[in-house]
Amino acid sequence: MTADDGVRPDVAAALRGAVDAGFGTALADLTRLTAIPAIAWPGFDPAELDRSAALTVRLLADCGLDDVRVLHAGQDGDVGAPAVLGRRAAAPGAPTVLLYAHHDVQPPGPGEQWTSPPFTATRRGGRLHGRGVADDKAGIMLHVAALRALHSVLGADLRLGVTVFVEGEEEAGSPTLATFLAEHRKALRADVVVVADSGNWQVGVPALTTSLRGLVDGVVATAKISLRIPPGNDPETAMAALARHVRIHAPFGAQATFRPGAAGAPYAVDPAPPAARAMHDAMHQAWGRPAVDMGVGGSIPVVAELARLLPDAQILITGAEDPDTRAHGIDESLDVEDLRRGVLAEALLLARLDAGIGTGDSTENSDNPD
Ligand SMILES: [Zn+2]
Repeated sequence: MTADDGVRPDVAAALRGAVDAGFGTALADLTRLTAIPAIAWPGFDPAELDRSAALTVRLLADCGLDDVRVLHAGQDGDVGAPAVLGRRAAAPGAPTVLLYAHHDVQPPGPGEQWTSPPFTATRRGGRLHGRGVADDKAGIMLHVAALRALHSVLGADLRLGVTVFVEGEEEAGSPTLATFLAEHRKALRADVVVVADSGNWQVGVPALTTSLRGLVDGVVATAKISLRIPPGNDPETAMAALARHVRIHAPFGAQATFRPGAAGAPYAVDPAPPAARAMHDAMHQAWGRPAVDMGVGGSIPVVAELARLLPDAQILITGAEDPDTRAHGIDESLDVEDLRRGVLAEALLLARLDAGIGTGDSTENSDNPD
């Protein structure tokens, strides 16, 4: 098979059938995940994070992984929110893919403003509503449902190494992420990374996210200010410039103090690595129309962290959101048919990677000693 071939037509058809057959279960699982208010902010019950991590482990149980466990950062494994790490080793010479999502969510805000209760996933028309249904429990289900389909179709023939990393504190600014990544560097090594925490161009039009803005924020006169920074800017320089701006522009006689807050690096993806072409092909096949490359105003700090950790890996940013999703807002929702297409696209991508399509020259990385 050459790099220009897709997956075999019989495999593609079988994957489509498996995704359709498993989609009802995937939606039921998404509903169970949504029912757990896992919020990593101070003042919220951390036991909910343990519950959602435990459910994520159970969902990954029938995905063909050898080892799935809950892990924390820190030498004694007791720092930060619970993350889930699942793995299956690559066959000799085969590539490894790392699949990322997060299981924590934003607080729901005023519950009375929601049309239906935030932690009860509710279908209205073609959309499923609830806190976290899109951001980012749909990300978990994209990986779970795609892996289930892949495992059921390819079974023992699967050669691709798979690592699933589901973070538990993304919406709280990922305070222990850098520590976790450094401590689990070897387990997270991959040739291709799929970060499922973004979205599509619009309902029915798939997209690959190829640029993300970074952010710096801080507090002036109790007032929080937040600055988005484009690719090419360095967060430390931007933070220093923001502090200087506040100091210089303080009104005459006033004293301004600036307390630096969070800083996240912007990110621009190389638009044409082989894995991105493979994802475009997979999305085209799943949606029946070409995908677009898009830039996103929000920031996903894990992307810059993973790029630093895995400088040779190709990073693909996908997700189940669309312009009507209202992630972090009241009445968050996702389009159910686009979720199904997203699952199929990811299953088709994984089948391509398994067939050696889209991994370019980096396939031998997975055999390198640490
Ligand atoms: Zn998210």
